[in-house]
Amino acid sequence: IQALQKIYRNPQHELTVLNDINLTLEAGDTLAITGPSGSGKTTLLGLCAGLDDATSGSLKLDGQAFENLSQDARAALRNRLVGFVFQNFQLIPTLTALENVLVPLELRGETGRQKVAEALLHEVGLGKRMGHYPAQLSGGEQQRVALARAFVHRPKILLADEPTGNLDAATSAPIVEMLFRLNREAGTALVIVTHDPGLAAKARRVVKMEGGKIIAEEENAV
Ligand code: ATP
Repeated sequence: IQALQKIYRNPQHELTVLNDINLTLEAGDTLAITGPSGSGKTTLLGLCAGLDDATSGSLKLDGQAFENLSQDARAALRNRLVGFVFQNFQLIPTLTALENVLVPLELRGETGRQKVAEALLHEVGLGKRMGHYPAQLSGGEQQRVALARAFVHRPKILLADEPTGNLDAATSAPIVEMLFRLNREAGTALVIVTHDPGLAAKARRVVKMEGGKIIAEEENAV
């Protein structure tokens, strides 16, 4: 990420939400993003996932600059390399747990890979809940489905926005454990937005944002 800027403009005023962000993440590394509410963390994660356009600056994933890609090419790059865990799970309510996990495979045209999705749901402890709809699952179970969905296509980078934000400590612990196991075992790079200092301390690098800028960076001995 180089000199990244995001400005929201409306007729009344303009708001600079990200200002001169420079950040490089090596393959397989772990990074936590902290900072007060409104500092731009979610916006930055969304730009990294190619969900929105930056106003200026450059964002490269695996050597390819988003700003030079068409919408379709960017979506294809995202579907291939990125997994995203949203703050409020964001499962599709009309699909079962298994069908939710199959979505990224279908987006990649990889049908007939139901076994992969089933195995992953077993791994996250939801083998008996595959046919349940999100409304029939607890918050922690929904987040584990969301994690399986984010990982089913073996992304190189997993972006997680407050992955434990709405969960109690007992429910959060296995989700945090799972995230870092994916990093250790599959080499998936992690970027985790969090307000939880305990979770941030598990990442090798921690950047702190304020007012749309990175104001500090630390490394943890992990
Ligand atoms: P939190 O910790 O509360 O989730 P955050 O650090 O993730 O906050 P963002 O969600 O990135 O912050 O928001 C940064 C700023 O951008 C906020 O002031 C927010 O109101 C503003 N913002 C976000 N999306 C839009 C939008 N679509 N239009 C205008 N302003 C927006």
